[in-house]
Amino acid sequence: MDTIAREQAAQRIERRLARLGYRVTQPRRRLIEKMLAFETYFSSDSLSVGEPSVGRATVFRSLHVFLRTGALCQVVLEDGTIVYRVADDGAHHHHLVCIDCDLVEEFSSEFLEAALAHAGAAHGYQVTGHRLEIYGRCDHCPTEASSGGRAGARG
Ligand SMILES: [Zn+2]
Ligand SMILES: [Zn+2]
Ligand SMILES: [Zn+2]
Repeated sequence: MDTIAREQAAQRIERRLARLGYRVTQPRRRLIEKMLAFETYFSSDSLSVGEPSVGRATVFRSLHVFLRTGALCQVVLEDGTIVYRVADDGAHHHHLVCIDCDLVEEFSSEFLEAALAHAGAAHGYQVTGHRLEIYGRCDHCPTEASSGGRAGARG
């Protein structure tokens, strides 16, 4: 994202927070700027690094607010690590996670939503939510077969 796109994205997030009744404080503004600087997902720790003026409690509280307002989403990596990413869209969606280049893309599927609701109902559950990520190699990353093994390590 270039500077202008980042500025616009920051304004979108700030408007969203304000609309939902959250205050856009200076530390929050700083965190929004910082999360937009990440090319892909980030950990909560990497958000507090180098921010002595923003306490860890503030970082966690803000993360919570960003998640609740749909500005940010949680992504579960293949090894179970939970990271965060700025949402393209605040609506309900899932993630495709590239295991090679760390690209994360959003997708949504009415078919999947219906199937998951059906699976819960079939077991007598009053479904309150679900999680779903798809792992694999994106179309920019060579497949295992075409890369010819691990000889040509990426730099
Ligand atoms: Zn997302
Ligand atoms: Zn990839
Ligand atoms: Zn879903």
